[in-house]
Amino acid sequence: MKCRDIQDMILTDYLDGQIDPKKKGIVESHLKECAACREFLVTATEAVIKPFDHSESRVPPESIWQGIQDVIHREQEVEVSNPFYDVLERMKVLLTMPRTMRAMATVAVVLLITVTLFKGINYRQQQIARASQEEMEYLSYLSGTSEMLDGNGGYDTDIEAYFL
Ligand SMILES: [Zn+2]
Repeated sequence: MKCRDIQDMILTDYLDGQIDPKKKGIVESHLKECAACREFLVTATEAVIKPFDHSESRVPPESIWQGIQDVIHREQEVEVSNPFYDVLERMKVLLTMPRTMRAMATVAVVLLITVTLFKGINYRQQQIARASQEEMEYLSYLSGTSEMLDGNGGYDTDIEAYFL
């Protein structure tokens, strides 16, 4: 067998230990006689095996594990302390039941309409309140002006009399 064939076997099967016993015998008996192939084996071993030699013993620094733990812990805290998350979890359970889902959808729509209506009413009430306030101010301004125009002046309007 030529050195080239031996070296091919060294690179492919011999170094990763997958070589069958028969081939292994051929390689090793060749290595005993051939210095060039022994040299090749040393070089190949250093090139292929050594870079991975320490990989198993390379443990990530403690700080990395601490960081990962912190993140996990924080996420758990968020899940626990978030009431919305709890509601969502319960809703998920409810949503897995088709009948309930339809009921939930109906409730959701009703709620949405109620909220929208309430907001609408609330907004309108605010508008009315604001408008009536402005109207009152305007009226009192008018009455004040008219009183002044009448020449009465002073504190003799009803509102002023009430407060003074
Ligand atoms: Zn050789």
